[in-house]
Amino acid sequence: MERTFIAIKPDGVQRRLVGEVISRFEEKGFTLVGLKLMSVSRELAESHYEVHKGKPFFDGLMKFITSGPVVAMVWEGDGVVAAARKMIGATNPLTAEPGTIRGDYAVSVGRNLIHGSDAIETANREISLWFKEEDLIAWEPSIMSWLVE
Ligand code: ADP
Repeated sequence: MERTFIAIKPDGVQRRLVGEVISRFEEKGFTLVGLKLMSVSRELAESHYEVHKGKPFFDGLMKFITSGPVVAMVWEGDGVVAAARKMIGATNPLTAEPGTIRGDYAVSVGRNLIHGSDAIETANREISLWFKEEDLIAWEPSIMSWLVE
């Protein structure tokens, strides 16, 4: 079953949007299989954002991501990677559609609340970077037959 990595960044935790974000994914019909509140080390931050190394915003991004607690999650469901990206909205919250998380709650690209993996291969890499296999729980929600034909 497809899985994606979602992180509520320090601004989302500080702004008390953890419950709101989790509710959106739950209500949509995806299944939570991993969850932790954690501090992010510089090493983890650099590894997670390695494709952006050398870009002008990289140092600011490192400072921001390591500045406070982050909620790291793994969500499961058919098509969850692409659907989560749609629910999150464009990187720049000012152009993110209303109804998306960034579109509804953020105004700045450097404070855009949430991360979601951009492809299945990226999701697999990010999940193994942030979670140990034994911390992910495979379970069958009892409402499944009401969600999926
Ligand atoms: P996304 O998070 O939508 O996948 P990217 O992978 O392009 O976006 O960028 C990763 C993160 O780096 C963004 O979510 C944002 O926090 C930060 N970022 C990207 N571009 C900028 C920028 N121009 N200025 C500040 N931060 C940026």
